[in-house]
Amino acid sequence: MSDSFSSSHPHRIGVVVEAPQHSGLWGALDYLSDHPLPPGTLVRVPLGRRMVTGVVWLGHDEVAPEPDWPLDQLKPVAEVLTGLPPLPAHWRQVVKFAAAYYQRSVGEMALMVLPPELRQLDATQWARRIKRLDQWVNPVAAKPKRRKAAMAEAVAVPQPAVTLPEAPSLPALTAQQGDALRALADGGAQAYLLWGSTGSGKTEVYLRQAQRALDAGQQVLMMVPEINLTPQLEARVAERFAGRRIVSLHSGLTPAQRLRNWLLAHTGHADLILGTRLSVFTPLPRLGLIVVDEEHDPSYKQQDGARYSARDLAVYRARLEQVPVILGSATPSLESWFNAMPAAEGGAGRYVRLAMPARIGDGSMPRVRLLDLSRAPKPPRGQEPPPLDKALLDAIQQRIERGEQSLILLNRRGYAPVLHCSDCGWKSGCPHCSAWRVFHKVDRTLRCHHCGFTERVPRACPDCGNQDIAPVGRGTERLEEQLAEILPGARIGRIDADVTKHKGALEERLADVHAGEVDVLVGTQMVAKGHDFRRITLVAAINPDAALFASDFRAAERQFALLMQAAGRAGRDAEVAAHSEMWIQTWHPTHPLYQTLLRYDYADFASQQLKERAMAGMPPYASLAMLRAEGKTQEAAQGFLEAAAQAMQERAQACGVTLYPAVPTPIQRVANVERAQLMIESAQRAPLQRFLSEAQAIWFELAQKNRRSGLIRWAVDVDPLSI
Ligand code: ADP
Ligand code: ZN
Ligand code: ZN
Repeated sequence: MSDSFSSSHPHRIGVVVEAPQHSGLWGALDYLSDHPLPPGTLVRVPLGRRMVTGVVWLGHDEVAPEPDWPLDQLKPVAEVLTGLPPLPAHWRQVVKFAAAYYQRSVGEMALMVLPPELRQLDATQWARRIKRLDQWVNPVAAKPKRRKAAMAEAVAVPQPAVTLPEAPSLPALTAQQGDALRALADGGAQAYLLWGSTGSGKTEVYLRQAQRALDAGQQVLMMVPEINLTPQLEARVAERFAGRRIVSLHSGLTPAQRLRNWLLAHTGHADLILGTRLSVFTPLPRLGLIVVDEEHDPSYKQQDGARYSARDLAVYRARLEQVPVILGSATPSLESWFNAMPAAEGGAGRYVRLAMPARIGDGSMPRVRLLDLSRAPKPPRGQEPPPLDKALLDAIQQRIERGEQSLILLNRRGYAPVLHCSDCGWKSGCPHCSAWRVFHKVDRTLRCHHCGFTERVPRACPDCGNQDIAPVGRGTERLEEQLAEILPGARIGRIDADVTKHKGALEERLADVHAGEVDVLVGTQMVAKGHDFRRITLVAAINPDAALFASDFRAAERQFALLMQAAGRAGRDAEVAAHSEMWIQTWHPTHPLYQTLLRYDYADFASQQLKERAMAGMPPYASLAMLRAEGKTQEAAQGFLEAAAQAMQERAQACGVTLYPAVPTPIQRVANVERAQLMIESAQRAPLQRFLSEAQAIWFELAQKNRRSGLIRWAVDVDPLSI
C-alpha cells in the first residue's frame, strides 16, 4: 500500500467490474494507473480479452479483497471517463450494502444499477455524451439547430423558467393532511408510513413535503411501482412544480433518454426524480426526500438477477443520507405495518405511522356486497355457471340505465385457461412447462404464459381426433364476449396485457373509459391500480377465491390489497359515492379476508394476519431466504440443494438457522428447465446474513462440482416475495 500516493510510482487502483457472483469474483480487482484516481471514478479496464467499464473503489479494506497481486503483474487502466464528478460515497455505500445483503458481488450490483449505455461507451463516445450534457442543462443557450434536437428529446424536462410562473392555487389542507405534514416537519429524518385510504390525499402530502425539500435547495426522489403509473404522477408533479427540472427513470425509456436523465440527476441539475425501482440507486448530490408510493407493491422487488427490494433499500438509503423517507399505502405490506407499530403494541416501532383514514370531500368507500355463490341456482347438468350472478347482473344493468360505469375484475387473461377434450380427457398442456396453455380466441392460438410457446389451436383433439374440444374456465377475453351477449347494447371494454401491448394502447383505452364511451370495463389487476375513474359506481371481483387457499403465505395479503385498490376505483366523485358498490362473488363469504374487507378494516385484517405469521414463524417475525436451483432434471436441481444444505448443516445449527427440505417450485418446469427451492429461515436477520455470506463460497464450489450432474444455475433470494 505504500505506493498508493507517491507520484513517481504507478498507483494500485481497486476497480469493481461486472462479474457475476458465479465467476467467484467478489471484490475489487487491482489495476495500475500513473496518477491517483478518486473512488467513484468510471474507468475502462481490460478483463480477460474484453474491455469493460468499471468503477474505482477504495482499496482492499472497502470490499472483500481479491488476492493481492504484485504490481508488476497488474494491467493498466485503459481509459478514464472524465468530465463527471465521481460517484459519491453514499452511492457506493448503498451499492455495497445491497450487494452484501442480497448476496451478489459488488461489481455486479454497481454495474447493474448504472444506465445500460454507460456500461458500453468508450472514452471517446463518452466525451461526446458529456458535451451534450451542457445542452440538456441549458437548452436556451445552445445553438438553435442543436437546441431543437435537445428539446425534442427532452420530453419530461420543462424549460427553465425565465419569469417565475404564477404559483398554482393549492387546495386547503384537510385536518389529517395537516397533521401528517406537521409530524413530518417535527420528525425530520426518519422513516414514515403514510397509511391513507385511496383518495385520502396522500399524493398531496408527498407534493407538499417535496415542496419543502425543493425550497431548501434539495432533490426529491419519488418512486412508483410501475411505468404505467409514472405519466399520471408526472403530469401532477409537472403542474405543481412548473419551472423545476423533473426527470423520470424507468425501463420504458430509450437508453439515450435514461442516460441523459441519470446524468441530470447525478450532476444535480434535476430537482425531482420520478422513477420505478431502479431509480433508488440514482446518485443524487442534494437528496432531501424519498417517497415510495404504493409501498406494498410487489414490483418494488426485482425478480431476477440481483433480487433487491427497492422499498427496503430506500429506507436504508434515507437513514444513511439522513433524510426522511415516506412509504405510502392504503394497505401497507405487513413488514412495514409491523415496523410502524409501536413497541407497546408488539410492533418494532421503527417507523412513524401517519394515518389518514378519510377520503377527501364526502367521498366514502363503496359499500361492499358479498355475493354467496353457494346460494346461487345450480346450472343444468353439464353446463357452466354464468359468469355473473343474477343479482350482480341486475346491479350492472341499473348502472347502464343511469349512464354510470362498472368495472369487472378478473385476474386471468386470454379466452380460457385450458382447452379440454371430453372424449379422451386431453388438455392443452405446454410441452415445455408443467402448466396449461391458454386459449386466445382472437388469433386462435394456444399460448403458454410461462415460456411463450405458441401454436395454432388444433382443429380436432390431437390424441383422439374428436372435433369437439371445448374451453374450460374463463379469462377476460371470454368474459368480454359473454357480457356482450348477456348485456345487449351495452358498450363493453377490456384492459389487460394482451390488448395494451402496443405503445399508447393503454392510454387510448383509458381515455375511452374517461370519455364515457365504455359502460362495462373488464380488466385484470392492471386497472385496479392508480387510475382515477370518475364515473365508475360498481366494481366487481368475480373470481377472487383462489388466493384464500394458495400455498404462498403472502397470497391473502396481496389479495386484500388488490381488492381494496379495486374498490378505490369506485365512487371517486362525491355525488356518486353514496350509491357506489364493491361486489365480491365468492363461495366463502365468511372468510376473514372478506369479513374485514366488508368494513375496509385493514388494521383488523393485518392484526389477524400477524397472529398467523407469528404462530407460523413467518415474516415479519422471521427472516427468510430461498435457495433456488435450476437443472436439466428435477433430481439435478434438488440434488444440488440437498448437498448445499448438508454442507452447511452444522453452521446452520450454530447460527440458529433452519434449513427446510428441497422441494419443486410451484410451477416446477418452465421452458424445459426443472426448478427446485429450499427455504432458509431464521428468527433474526443478522445470523441469517452471517450464515448466507459464509455459505456463498461453499455453495459456489459445490455448484462448480455439480455442473456435470445437470445443474444449470442457482441463486439465493433474500426476503423472497413468494415461496
Ligand atoms: P391519494 O394519493 O391518497 O389517492 P390524492 O392525493 O390523489 O389521494 O387525492 C385525491 C383527490 O383529492 C385528488 O383529486 C386531489 O387533487 C384531491 N385533493 C387532495 N388533497 C385535497 C385537499 N386538501 N382539498 C381538496 N382536494 C384535495
Ligand atoms: Zn380427445
Ligand atoms: Zn411453456
